[in-house]
Amino acid sequence: MRRVTIFGATGSIGRNTVDLLARGVGGPTRVVALTGGRNVGLLAEQARLLGAELAVTAYPELLDALRAALDGTGVEVAAGPEAILEAADRPADWVMSAIVGIAGLEPGLRALRHGGTLALANKESLVAAGPLLLAEAARHGARILPVDSEHSAIFQALVGEDISAVERIIITASGGPFRTWPLSRMARATVAEAASHPNWSMGQRISIDSATLFNKAMEVIETREFFGVDPAQIEVVVHPQSVVHALVGFSDGAMMAHLGAADMRHAIGYALNWPVRAHLPVERLDLAALGRLDFEPPDEDRFPALRLAREVMAARGLSGAIFNAAKERALDHFIAGQVCLTDMAVLVERTLAALAPAAGADTPLTLDTVRAADRAARAEVDRLAGATVPAMSDVDQN
Ligand code: NDP
Repeated sequence: MRRVTIFGATGSIGRNTVDLLARGVGGPTRVVALTGGRNVGLLAEQARLLGAELAVTAYPELLDALRAALDGTGVEVAAGPEAILEAADRPADWVMSAIVGIAGLEPGLRALRHGGTLALANKESLVAAGPLLLAEAARHGARILPVDSEHSAIFQALVGEDISAVERIIITASGGPFRTWPLSRMARATVAEAASHPNWSMGQRISIDSATLFNKAMEVIETREFFGVDPAQIEVVVHPQSVVHALVGFSDGAMMAHLGAADMRHAIGYALNWPVRAHLPVERLDLAALGRLDFEPPDEDRFPALRLAREVMAARGLSGAIFNAAKERALDHFIAGQVCLTDMAVLVERTLAALAPAAGADTPLTLDTVRAADRAARAEVDRLAGATVPAMSDVDQN
């Protein structure tokens, strides 16, 4: 029986994973551990539903509430970041990495030591520390399967193909809620507007990252790390319907596209069933009803995140860690109402300019150097936001 652990079980990806497991997708499982954050009520419900052996909240102050919610069930409970790492130390064959943010890196790294499969939704891990994660997987004979819909799509388009025959990889972006907004209006966007993705239902942070195309910038870097292609081979195209998730162009001019409904249970289910395809409870596409599929180039003036991603890929070293941390911290400032939507890219660009030159390709990539770069970037964003928010809100808006 397959042993399964889910990090971030109470989030959007985690809930979809629990839904599939509860329906028996992936076959018989023994759930070793489920981890969550603040939503201990849901965590307890999931632990009961799946008969989990251990439930862990990231927050020690919520341990009593979790314990009370699971009283009499026999489910072990624990709390705090160390307890999440201890959960990662319990052997599992298939682990879902779906904590949001850099907090997902270390549990994923630890889980790889069991030599099983890490289903990776936590793109922050790959952006901040891709080479570290891949080396750890290789060291322990573990496999990392993509869960991000674009990367799952690329992975599926590459089945049976030779990566050396790949000319280009195109990932699609819906364009988010601000696809047609002028920069001046984008600057006044509220958190609620930014978090309302036109096609996908996701957690708040990734939804806002989609609105700024920072999510797509992360995915471009993720593509480079996952598939080892040259950054120049990776393209982004805006596709408002979110039906085509990615395309791979080959040396003979053929292009393989992956189409599917906007439902993360497809990519999660593919990773659960891989290498076989099995029935999944997702909507089937009706192409005639869809009628048309549109594609347009991204506007890098309004969405500078894509340009920043290319700079990060050229700089290598710890610049991915700096980029990710600066983006996460800038988002904190936006959610807190301290900076406007368009300030986020300014904060990230300035942080990269300040820190990345000293953190290039020669800098060794270890968990410690990644953590230090992460801390420095967050401090730099705080410093910049505190000092310059009003001026940055006024930058170059059409
Ligand atoms: P959510 O915000 O919905 O969920 C995040 C999960 O992480 C929750 O279980 C949350 O707990 C937990 N969590 C939050 N902070 C911490 C912390 N400091 N330590 C441990 N656990 C924590 O995020 P999503 O599910 O949307 O995204 C998860 C990951 O998957 C992200 O990396 C995202 O980029 C990626 N992803 C998501 C997609 C999607 O469709 N949602 C698509 C592709 C990738 P709680 O809610 O209980 O507080």
